[in-house]
Amino acid sequence: MTSSVAVLGTGIMGAGMARSLVRAGLDVTVWNRSADKARPLADEGAKVAADAPGAVSGADVIVTMLFDGDAVAEVMGRALEATRQDAVWAQTSTVGLADTQRLAQLASQHGRGFIDAPVLGTKQPAEQGELIVLAGGPRELEPTVAPVFEAIGSKTIWVGERAGDGQALKLALNSWVLSITAATAQAIALARDLGVDPQLFLDAIRGGGTDSPYAQLKGKAMITGDFAPAFGLAGAVKDAELIVEALLQAGDDPSLMRAIHDLMSVAASAGHAGEDMAAVVHAFR
Ligand code: NAP
Repeated sequence: MTSSVAVLGTGIMGAGMARSLVRAGLDVTVWNRSADKARPLADEGAKVAADAPGAVSGADVIVTMLFDGDAVAEVMGRALEATRQDAVWAQTSTVGLADTQRLAQLASQHGRGFIDAPVLGTKQPAEQGELIVLAGGPRELEPTVAPVFEAIGSKTIWVGERAGDGQALKLALNSWVLSITAATAQAIALARDLGVDPQLFLDAIRGGGTDSPYAQLKGKAMITGDFAPAFGLAGAVKDAELIVEALLQAGDDPSLMRAIHDLMSVAASAGHAGEDMAAVVHAFR
């Protein structure tokens, strides 16, 4: 019976997930490299550990929600030894296909269960326990991780039995999300720079076949200049790279995602890396 969970990484996503786990009544211990981001969770019922091994030592399930594969490998390289023998590692960061194999091997070297479990949804769904969990791994581990996935998500999709199956679906979904954002930015920049009110673009598509709530959300942010991060631009650049790698691995043409990657990199290098990926609109000028 799963009752204790360690959350490593309390950035935008991990902090919201930790709050959802506390609300579900689980015994939650958090750790973050920059302690100031973990500390406020103590007031909300989580234990705050001073280091990653200390966070994981008593946990049934360890959730990693760190920036990329290198960060996860570095932190779990130090912490795995301290986990219980029957602990299961639910790896929720978006790390791509190659790094998922590397992390699954790390777990296997220590004889620990591993579920590849990236999530769909941004800051608000993470806070509300409304993420969609995309799970890949042995189904016999499902009863152990189910209480955790039920707390952080509204739905779990078991994509397959292999580590990497969850990431494969996640990369396909993010290729869609990044494409909508970049295409919205292009339409807004084009209207604006031809001297037309860009809000008229959002008004024109509203409710029609080509509309989407995401285009309206990101389009509004681009027009108002509110780039408070929900899905950060640095993370979008990282994901675009992972998607290009996956397209090449699959034998598909990566040209579209390369162009999106390059636009997002231009905006990130121009000082917008810490902003929401809607700031890609800056790359068009
Ligand atoms: P974030 O707010 O930037 O948080 C990143 C976390 O990674 C922070 O806890 C950071 O610690 C930690 N970190 C980075 N490098 C590290 C290292 N070398 N060693 C230890 N810790 C390190 O990002 P986020 O939006 O929560 O994203 C986390 C993961 O979720 C990413 O893989 C992202 O692709 C994925 N994701 C994000 C969204 C979204 O909409 N935001 C949605 C789904 C999935 P510090 O605080 O010390 O920097």
